[in-house]
Amino acid sequence: MFPKIRWRIAISYLILVTIVMTGLASYLSRPGCLGDAGCVRQAVSFTAVLLLVLAAVVAFPVAARTTQPVQQLTSVIRRITGGEWEARILPLTRDEMGELIFAFNNMIDTLRQQHLTLLQDNGQLETVLNYMADGVLITDSVGRVRLINPAASKLFSLSEKSALERTFAEVVRHHQLIDLWHACQEEEQVVTAAVELGRVFLQVIITPFKEGWAEGYLVILQDLTTMRHLQTVRSDFISNVSHELRTPLASLQVIIETLQDGAYDDPETAVRFLDRAAAEIDVLTQMVEELLELSRIESGQVPLRLQATAVADLLLGPMDRLKPQAERASLNLILDLPAALPLVLADPTRIHQVVSNLLHNAIKFTPDGGNITLKAEADEEKNEVVITIQDNGIGIAQEELGRIFERFYKSDRARTRSLGGTGLGLAISRHIVQVHNGRMWVHSKENKGSSFFFTLPTSS
Ligand code: ADP
Repeated sequence: MFPKIRWRIAISYLILVTIVMTGLASYLSRPGCLGDAGCVRQAVSFTAVLLLVLAAVVAFPVAARTTQPVQQLTSVIRRITGGEWEARILPLTRDEMGELIFAFNNMIDTLRQQHLTLLQDNGQLETVLNYMADGVLITDSVGRVRLINPAASKLFSLSEKSALERTFAEVVRHHQLIDLWHACQEEEQVVTAAVELGRVFLQVIITPFKEGWAEGYLVILQDLTTMRHLQTVRSDFISNVSHELRTPLASLQVIIETLQDGAYDDPETAVRFLDRAAAEIDVLTQMVEELLELSRIESGQVPLRLQATAVADLLLGPMDRLKPQAERASLNLILDLPAALPLVLADPTRIHQVVSNLLHNAIKFTPDGGNITLKAEADEEKNEVVITIQDNGIGIAQEELGRIFERFYKSDRARTRSLGGTGLGLAISRHIVQVHNGRMWVHSKENKGSSFFFTLPTSS
């Protein structure tokens, strides 16, 4: 319907040839020219030259009109390559060039859309990888690291950039992980194993993949340290409960057997054994009560009767009660309170329980003649009061410090010294403090003494 380029050229040349041929015909039709060879030669030569000149004159604008859009197209392609996705040419003609420009614009629109989708997908993938707690690492088929996420970089103490220039073995520097990668490469199937990387306990999954032209291995590193710690705490808890129950039960059994074997007939011995049995039952009862108490506090079943309370009121009661015990061991109980302390928001009965427990421990673990100091200090910035119970007793070994708040945990020294106690006191105390929105922690040095701290929010 519209003149296409080839038609335009053909028509132009047809018109040109028609004009020239008409000129040639009229020249030859002059009288006597056809019979004159010179005239015919002259006419033909003139026609050829005219044809050449006119052809050049016609070809130039046609060529210019055809190449101009090509030049525009080239410059637009350059701009798009440089990231200027909005660059376009408007099709000014409806010929082949116009159609090419139209198709080109469509292609750029589609490419741009695909580019945006790809960017979006990449962005989402990057976010997932960046915020993932698991370490992710991708190697190519020969083991060069192609991708590493922040969790994996942190695990191997390497920046992402330096990891990407290295091999898997250079990045992980761990023989078990390297062996696993080789096993996966040899077997071409998923391998899974538990690996200890220093203090970190990892579950490692290596999967071979082949996606089109991409081929490699996906390494996932799941940090199971906390879970393993919880498992250890749980199994320790069960074995501790059994152990703690077994001791008084075993001694009850011995007492009963001794009584059955005849001790029963001697009233004095019988009374002694029955007293011992009663003491063992007291231990059992205390343990069961403390366990129940702990589980009630943990499950939030203990209602707190919070009230604005003077810190002195929280410390003096337990001090008075435990004074005789301290005096028996010639321990100095010192109360060091600043004049003006804000009131704290506390359930006095519960906090008495905490202070008694800490004080009782301090008395138990401080050799005769030692000092035990109860202090309190306001932290105005945090709106809390820090209460400290400090002793200069046997202290706690560095490696045991992290465990003493666990249920049933007793240090080796406490066990060997047979100082009694269920190992539940600190766990209960810490829970009570936590339900008051406070914190509890300890500083201690072996043979130098311990300081237990806890905070309570001020009532304001
Ligand atoms: P227990 O009732 O057996 O004393 P706790 O939970 O109160 O149990 O204490 C747990 C362990 O923490 C104790 O067995 C002891 O090893 C250690 N401990 C607590 N307080 C002190 C302290 N003041 N000095 C030294 N060790 C302490």
